[in-house]
Amino acid sequence: MNASRTVPLTATASVHEHAWITESAHVTSTGRLRYVRCVGCAARRVDLEAAPVGPPTALTREIG
Ligand SMILES: [Zn+2]
Repeated sequence: MNASRTVPLTATASVHEHAWITESAHVTSTGRLRYVRCVGCAARRVDLEAAPVGPPTALTREIG
């Protein structure tokens, strides 16, 4: 009996870890807005990088 069965790979082929590249970006009041695209499947997304609050502040006095 030759009952070989194939497993459909469509479920795994459509799921992958996106590899985002930045197509364009601009700075807004809430941070840096990046328009990214996946090089693997051409999916698109908009990312927001939060704006830095300010320079680092010291939590302790100088030691030594
Ligand atoms: Zn992708």
